[in-house]
Amino acid sequence: MKIILCLFFLLWFKMHEEMKLFDVYPVFDIEPVKGDGCYIYDKAGTKYLDFYGGHAVISIGHSHPHYVEMVSSQLANLGFYSNSVENSLQVELAEKLGALSGLEDYQLFLCNSGAEANENALKMVSFATGKTKIIAFENAFHGRTSSAVNITHNLKIQAPINQTFEREWLILNEIEPVKMALEKGDIAAVIIEGIQGVGGIYIPEVSFLEAVAELCKTHDVPLILDEVQSGSGRSGKYFAFQYADIQPDIISIAKGIGNGFPIGGILLSPKYKASYGLLGTTFGGNHLACAAAIAVLDVIKNENLLDNANRIGHYLQSKLKQIPIIKAVRGRGLMIGIDFDFPVKALRTKLVKEYQLFTGSAGNPNTIRLLPPLNVTMAEADLFLEKLILALEN
Ligand code: PLP
Repeated sequence: MKIILCLFFLLWFKMHEEMKLFDVYPVFDIEPVKGDGCYIYDKAGTKYLDFYGGHAVISIGHSHPHYVEMVSSQLANLGFYSNSVENSLQVELAEKLGALSGLEDYQLFLCNSGAEANENALKMVSFATGKTKIIAFENAFHGRTSSAVNITHNLKIQAPINQTFEREWLILNEIEPVKMALEKGDIAAVIIEGIQGVGGIYIPEVSFLEAVAELCKTHDVPLILDEVQSGSGRSGKYFAFQYADIQPDIISIAKGIGNGFPIGGILLSPKYKASYGLLGTTFGGNHLACAAAIAVLDVIKNENLLDNANRIGHYLQSKLKQIPIIKAVRGRGLMIGIDFDFPVKALRTKLVKEYQLFTGSAGNPNTIRLLPPLNVTMAEADLFLEKLILALEN
């Protein structure tokens, strides 16, 4: 009888077993169900100020009417077809991206994420040079897929299968080691973030970027600018590297270009010649993704969001620098790092739970990362400051 009962319970448990999520993300116990501009709302209708932008993804604000209209009407017409047919949305996207960034002579290849963009960038430089060794920088984050994670400066997230080619991480803003590395003649590319994001908002100095670009040119080594996080107007220029007078060989993009719709890509300088089959992806450049990215470009242009990012970014930085407990403030536009002399995990949780304010973390445990939508208003900037000051005081 006991055995029958045991078998019965085992069967019952088996029948009621549910698939679990693979638990890799530490999450806040809050579920946003609606977004509007710089705010998100949970199921109970509680309103949160979003200074995290869903990890630098929300560029033109949640559920912007033009974006909703473009994506919805595209879906009603045609959501997807493969890259085996003409797609004038891709052409329109390339034209508008070229015009807004001032890089009209570059070529656009579309894919689905930031890591995939870097994967393709690395593949292109390796095709072009026949080499495999990459120079990256300490604190760098370039994604989690095979080659992208191999050059990300975090050994904890690299599996043995990722560590397939040589890479060297040099110190950001120190030019001499770059010079010495390039002189050896075995480098396939130098890759650098427009502004280091995940690492904690560290900015490559203009003179450093210009010297790296010059050295790359001298040694005929391609320069890849990873603008996945710092691009799409976040820095106050369309690309963060445009604070310097340089022309990278390849620029990788994602995050803000889709405002939440997954899309990535690379911009390739005219020296790269395409051939059929060289790069490819099923979903890259699909109709919905293009409609989303075109809507984002329209809004950035029509609402002067680069100017807004600059104006509000300067204001936030100047106000943050006046708060005595803050040790350092770094950033450009609406990509701002705030350093404290204590780990900020508890403060960030307090901001969410008690002050309904989302902010970002960083590789540096003492740094808060601010990545609000580019159309954040002055009133919302003041509200953010008010909440932060209150949380620090209480
Ligand atoms: N490159 C940079 C600079 C990033 O910040 C990120 C993501 O945070 C990536 C690449 C990877 O992008 P994704 O998560 O879309 O693969």
